[in-house]
Amino acid sequence: MTATVQTERRLTHVTHPLVQHKLSYLRDRTTPTVHFRKLVEEVTLLLTYEATKDLPSEQVEVDTPLERTSVPRISGKKVAVCPVLRAGVGMLDGVLSLISSARVGFIGLYRDEETLQPVEYYVKLPQDVADRDVILLDPMLATGNSTAHAVRLVKDAGASSVRLISIIAAPEGIANIETTHPDVQIVVAAIDRQLNERGYIVPGLGDAGDRLYGTK
Ligand code: URA
Repeated sequence: MTATVQTERRLTHVTHPLVQHKLSYLRDRTTPTVHFRKLVEEVTLLLTYEATKDLPSEQVEVDTPLERTSVPRISGKKVAVCPVLRAGVGMLDGVLSLISSARVGFIGLYRDEETLQPVEYYVKLPQDVADRDVILLDPMLATGNSTAHAVRLVKDAGASSVRLISIIAAPEGIANIETTHPDVQIVVAAIDRQLNERGYIVPGLGDAGDRLYGTK
């Protein structure tokens, strides 16, 4: 996907046609829940491909049926994938289909609709998260307040390498993470215009959790 990626700073905007095609259906209000779920998974898989492109590898010797050869394999730390509840859970299988051995941590945050500040209600991280490369999943990077809080939680647990995969980001959310956690690599499928007065990304796709779980 090299020709389809725009990178500046630690932000990667994946403009690959497959990602953008699927995103167009995610945005469409008539896309039913059953398709929405599948599309979230597929877009996340494609974003995971980009988010992991700098994982270190090492040369190892393998015997093919024909001869011994030296080939690259991913080395270094294992992965912990941490969805931010609840919408991030819809992205989980997209990552696990590429990194099946990853451990999974859950971060339960909801957004106070008045203050737009995150409220923590459940956190369960892998015990050895400090030794792992963390991939945070939060489909909508809106104000960035809850995402920044989630990054803080995994860092407080000892994680030193954190990547964030979001499907749609608002400029405000990107600026928030770049300011509060400049070391975090952010991978997105779209950077939208702005937040509206209720903190929703516009044009966006609506409430990702409601659309994933059919709760509205
Ligand atoms: N969360 C959502 O689900 N959608 C938005 O537009 C913003 C936050």
